[in-house]
Amino acid sequence: MESKKESKKYNCADIEKRVNAYIDDQLNNREKILFEEHLDYCLPCDKKIEFELKLKEFVKFKSVEKSYPAKLDEELKKIIKNPDN
Ligand SMILES: [Zn+2]
Repeated sequence: MESKKESKKYNCADIEKRVNAYIDDQLNNREKILFEEHLDYCLPCDKKIEFELKLKEFVKFKSVEKSYPAKLDEELKKIIKNPDN
């Protein structure tokens, strides 16, 4: 039971845990606010989410193009290794 709910803020570990839920839009409003609040002042997390969102777009695009998860996995690994390419 947490009593001090008002002082509760997400730290980087909290963000890490919720990245997928955030990207899949599965956080409730309160969680979303806390999540985005953290991104406002934490540049590394902000960058990370930005990257994850791009990745998700890529996956969507790729899965339409050809529904072959193994291949997709390969492509993703390439992106993760060379995010600027
Ligand atoms: Zn952070």
